Amino acid sequence: MRRILVAGNIKMNLSRSELNQLLSSIRNELETQAEPIDVAYFPAAPMLDVAQSVLTGSDVLWGAQNMHWEEGGAFTGECSPLMLRELGCQQVILGHSERRALFGETDEMINRKAASALAHDLIPVVCVGETEAERESGATEVVLTRQVVGSLANLQFSDPSRLVVAYEPVWAIGTGKTASPEQAQEAHSHVRSELSNLFGTHAASGIRILYGGSVKAGNAADIFSKPDVDGGLVGGASLKPEQFVPIIRAGGDAARQAGS
Ligand code: PGA
Repeated sequence: MRRILVAGNIKMNLSRSELNQLLSSIRNELETQAEPIDVAYFPAAPMLDVAQSVLTGSDVLWGAQNMHWEEGGAFTGECSPLMLRELGCQQVILGHSERRALFGETDEMINRKAASALAHDLIPVVCVGETEAERESGATEVVLTRQVVGSLANLQFSDPSRLVVAYEPVWAIGTGKTASPEQAQEAHSHVRSELSNLFGTHAASGIRILYGGSVKAGNAADIFSKPDVDGGLVGGASLKPEQFVPIIRAGGDAARQAGS
């Protein structure tokens, strides 16, 4: 059975002390009431040491929002998988739509990054998702197929729980517009069928597919209740404990319902 993952994407937000406070309170919440799910935070790279110092020994995982595929070298401005491992990261977000749209990341680059992450024992959280224009022109599935195949082809992993895909429709990110639970399920089911084509049905049934795009306390439970939705990648609502904790609890409820 797939273990639900509720992840916070902090993007380029928060000071070190704000991050410290946020992570400490999430750690405390989970110490008070544990949940049968994975919870992870993805702070900005210069603050990964804050995550390491606050979260080591807790139930909360952490990782970076991007990474280069090489171990080191003349790549000004980049971080390598070895550097992330030294900061204790267990996971890394790759190919977020903001990186694709604003920083020119291609499926081919994301594919190299994902292969490198797996080779360095980091779980890649690979993002895919269509724009509003693509959805309106009926191209959602074609786009998802192209991104899933282009960014995940030929990846090697022995345990499918080591690969995570995040379906994040671009039109829902930071806009307050959320995919309906039915739209999310339809897209996730399509992504899973493409994962089956790439890796076989057995592996595909173990790969987690997160939904991202304006997840909030008020919509998380409905979205997480869908059979192919294995948790969420949360931006804005991950910045405040009072907004993120209910999403974690919705993930816990979904896990209990799936197990009962
Ligand atoms: P949002 O961002 O929750 O603010 O829409 C999600 C993401 O970009 O991962």
